[in-house]
Amino acid sequence: MVEITQIGIVVNEVKEPMDPFKFENVISKIVVDKKYEDGLFNLDKNEYIQVIYYFHKSPTPKKLIGTSYFGSKEGVFATRSPIRPGAVGLSTAKLIKIQKNEVIVKGLDAIDGTPVLDIKPYTPTLDEKEISRIKKEIDYNNLKRDLWPLIRNWDLEPILHEAAKLHGHYCSGLAMGVMMGSYAMKKLGSFGFSDGMENIIAIVEMNHCAVDGIQYTTGCTFGNNALIFRDLGKTALSLLKRTDTSCKGIRISLKPIPWESLSENQPELNELFDKVVKYRNGTPKDLKRLKELMRLNSLAFIKRKFEDTFNVENITIPNQPWASIKESVKCEKCGELIMKSRTVNINGKVLCLKCSNTSFYEVSGNGIQKIDWNSL
Ligand SMILES: [Zn+2]
Ligand SMILES: [Zn+2]
Repeated sequence: MVEITQIGIVVNEVKEPMDPFKFENVISKIVVDKKYEDGLFNLDKNEYIQVIYYFHKSPTPKKLIGTSYFGSKEGVFATRSPIRPGAVGLSTAKLIKIQKNEVIVKGLDAIDGTPVLDIKPYTPTLDEKEISRIKKEIDYNNLKRDLWPLIRNWDLEPILHEAAKLHGHYCSGLAMGVMMGSYAMKKLGSFGFSDGMENIIAIVEMNHCAVDGIQYTTGCTFGNNALIFRDLGKTALSLLKRTDTSCKGIRISLKPIPWESLSENQPELNELFDKVVKYRNGTPKDLKRLKELMRLNSLAFIKRKFEDTFNVENITIPNQPWASIKESVKCEKCGELIMKSRTVNINGKVLCLKCSNTSFYEVSGNGIQKIDWNSL
């Protein structure tokens, strides 16, 4: 057995263990024992330091495989869990300043009273040797993992900003979608399944702005077949996880909310909305102001209490079919490739819907509608 020396102690405002991502802005003081103070000489030449410490509040682990922060099953040495046989923690923190035997840092992932075992400079040439390659590998396997801590901590603002890049503008509808999708993901604990492989399915009952917030947060999209659109005209999302026998999850629907009371901007926004969107009659200045008001409203909307805004019910539905894989065939008239299920056979000839003048269904801003070719 080795004997380990404690060289100091962490002092900060965090009294109990908390989500590691919440330490980002926490300022801590590492009080180093006076007898080791000389060892801090020139440490302040470094922008970041690594602190090795003892998890003094963690119990001894009962098992060696558990559920990781990101929801997957991992062995203890494959995670950064504080409950581990060696009970040693490592955290990189930004060095702010050193005052005699006190090292002031930002972002140290350790609670008040943590015994410190060692301090080292963070050395990019050693510690970052292959970081760009490693980061990419992790991203390939879990492309949306950066979203999970934000959803877990209900930190919706950065999510809204990213969803707005997909959506093209900020609006209350997008904010609704961000709230619904985030809530459902958190409730189902489905983050590890958000890989666009149809393991989780979103059923939306509307086709307005909220759907983009839902696609961004759940990873169920129009393109990956994990998004089902039921043209019911209700602002509602069902998020479901597949099991062997059924799909289980929750349905979230918008409560009737008095729009006028949503924000003080609402009257001006309504007026501009009518002018710019409804009557297509706004100036570039009107459009700019409208977008600004929409952005302010969406930022205000995500701060609403979820329970005041949405209803939630548990649901179980029969297993949904996986998206079918159909072969492509060539239309014998126009020569373009068509999914086989979208062909018609006329007098022994395989034709596409266009060449056979067969009506079809279209999703547009007006919902799902049957379209005749002669109307186009
Ligand atoms: Zn929108
Ligand atoms: Zn054709």
